[in-house]
Amino acid sequence: MTTVRSVLLASAGVVLLALLLAGCGPERATATPAVDASVHQEFSLTHDELADLVSVTPAPTRSRVAEDPGGFLSLVRDVLAAPAELIVLVDKNNPLPATYAPDDLVPLSEFAGRIGYAVGEREISRIIAADLIDMAAAARREGVELIVQSAYRSYEYQAQLFTAYAARHGEVAASMFSARPGRSQHQLGTAVDFAPIAREFADMPAGRWLAEHAWRFGFSLSYPEGYEEVTGYIYEPWHFRYVGRAAARLEREFFAGVQQHMLEFLHARGDLLRDAATARIGNGA
Ligand SMILES: [Zn+2]
Repeated sequence: MTTVRSVLLASAGVVLLALLLAGCGPERATATPAVDASVHQEFSLTHDELADLVSVTPAPTRSRVAEDPGGFLSLVRDVLAAPAELIVLVDKNNPLPATYAPDDLVPLSEFAGRIGYAVGEREISRIIAADLIDMAAAARREGVELIVQSAYRSYEYQAQLFTAYAARHGEVAASMFSARPGRSQHQLGTAVDFAPIAREFADMPAGRWLAEHAWRFGFSLSYPEGYEEVTGYIYEPWHFRYVGRAAARLEREFFAGVQQHMLEFLHARGDLLRDAATARIGNGA
C-alpha cells in the first residue's frame, strides 16, 4: 500500500534529484565563482569591500586586518556601539567647536580616596570614572600610585594656556607641546595627564605601569615616542585619553598602538562601517 513512508521517500528522491541537477547542471560551468561571502555576520561587507575600507590605513594595519578580518570587525562593532565622543578625532586639523563641553563633568573630589589628584577642582567626564578608578586600584595593588595632574580643560582655559606658552616660547615651539584652543583632547573631558608632567615620567613606576597596562582599562597613550610627525605633538608619556576598552584593544591589536591612526581611520570610515552594519549600531557621529 501507499504509505506515508513511500511518499516521503519519493519526495526525498525528487529533492535529491533537484540538488544533483543544481550541482551538475549547465549553469555550473558558466556561473561566476561563488559570491564572496560576508566577512562578518553583522556587516554586509565582502573581503574586497573591507580591503577597500582599510586602504586608508598604514600597511601593517592592512595586513593585520587581512589576517583576522572577523576579529577586526567584531572590535569595530563594539567601538561603534560605544558613545561617539570616545573616538571623535580632535587634532591640529580637526578642532572641536569653541562651544563644545561635555555635559557630564564631575569633580575628581567626588572620588577622593579612590583616585589620586593634584588639584581637587579638576573635572573629568563621568564616562571615564569607573575605568579610571579601576585602573588606579589595579596600579595601587602593584604598589604604584597614579596621580591626576590635569583633566578637563575648557576652550577658554586652553586659549589662556596656549597664549601664555606662546608668549614664553614662541607660537611654533608652543604648538609642539601645547594645543591651540579647540585642538586639545582635554576639552573632551576624557583625557588625563598624570603627574609629574615631565619627560622622566616614562621611566618612573607610574609611567612604566601605564605604558604596559592602561589599554586594559580603555586608556590610550595619545602622543607616543617617534610619532611626532603623525600626531603633531612631542612624546607625552603622561597624557592618556580614554577611548573605551574595545577601542583600546582595537588600537593595540590592529593599529600598532598608535591612537592617531585608529582615530583617523574611524573618522574617515566610521559612517561607511555603520552603513554596512546589518543591524543599527551606535548613535552616529
Ligand atoms: Zn595632556
